[in-house]
Amino acid sequence: MATPKRTSQQKRRHLAKRPLEKTLLEEVQEAVSRWSVLSAEEEYEGEWDSLGFRIDVSEETTAEDVLEMGNALLALLKDSPAAAKLTGTWIIGIYRSDELVRVVTPRDKPQFICAVCGYEQEKWSDVCIQCKTPW
Ligand SMILES: [Zn+2]
Repeated sequence: MATPKRTSQQKRRHLAKRPLEKTLLEEVQEAVSRWSVLSAEEEYEGEWDSLGFRIDVSEETTAEDVLEMGNALLALLKDSPAAAKLTGTWIIGIYRSDELVRVVTPRDKPQFICAVCGYEQEKWSDVCIQCKTPW
């Protein structure tokens, strides 16, 4: 039996025909499932070879939740064998009430916020570098 030919650009980009992207989307959906996520979908970025994800979180999601989610996604995509096989880059937009609240790309670093003083830092340390409270 002959395999049906992929006829159009649109079909070529269809997620079901791109197992790597499908795997990544499933990994992303799994990683964000512990937060109040309304939807996590692939979003075509228009840029050559870039894979985009759009995550819509519920209105009650706090800034800390968004930060933690971003850190979790960074860790996930850094370690994911599927992400390592991508020929292009990836970008994730986190939206709350249709407002873009965080963008995560491979160039980003994790961010940590002190629960006591609210100081933001990029490197993990035993104590907050601002108020010296242990994390
Ligand atoms: Zn602090």
